[in-house]
Amino acid sequence: MSYYSPSIEKLIESFEKLPSIGHKTAIRLAFHILDAGEEEVTEFIDSITNAKANLKYCSQCFNISDSDPCPICASPKRDHNIICVVEDVKDVIAMERTHEFKGTYHVLHGSISPMNGVGPDDIKIKELLNRISSNPDIKEIIIATNPRVEGEATAMYISKLLKPLGVKVTRIANGIPVGGDLEYTDEITLAKALEGRREV
Ligand SMILES: [Zn+2]
Repeated sequence: MSYYSPSIEKLIESFEKLPSIGHKTAIRLAFHILDAGEEEVTEFIDSITNAKANLKYCSQCFNISDSDPCPICASPKRDHNIICVVEDVKDVIAMERTHEFKGTYHVLHGSISPMNGVGPDDIKIKELLNRISSNPDIKEIIIATNPRVEGEATAMYISKLLKPLGVKVTRIANGIPVGGDLEYTDEITLAKALEGRREV
């Protein structure tokens, strides 16, 4: 039996659904909200509602953005003939933090993982091919999927598809710990991995 009223119980449950939030933290957050002023609570609710309502996928790179195309795809300062392929939106942020990459991105939204029932058609590979075939000036495709089994398999699959198209395909260098995530790799390591990329 719960010690809390149903409303508090529900709030705790909602927080508990968030990643990395355990039961104790959920309780703390729920009581923080109860103690917070009306204005703070409204601002919090609005920020969630607005993010959900306004954010969309860029139709070119599939990054998440308030606008379509996203600011990176729309920027004349970026090299639109170099595309860095990443698994996740969070990887774009990791790459941007290095300040080393001046090209554009392509977010796959996952990696090929037969174990989890994810095949090539379930991620944005087709869209990448369309992008490449509609731009004859593409100079390089940098594959920056995570150095895990799935990320490596995805990199291999994409490079095999792209080879016949005559596009230069590179893979970011080792240095990112095997099994690691771009998201959690520090800027210097990631910048070095990008600099040391080799043709595949
Ligand atoms: Zn974009």
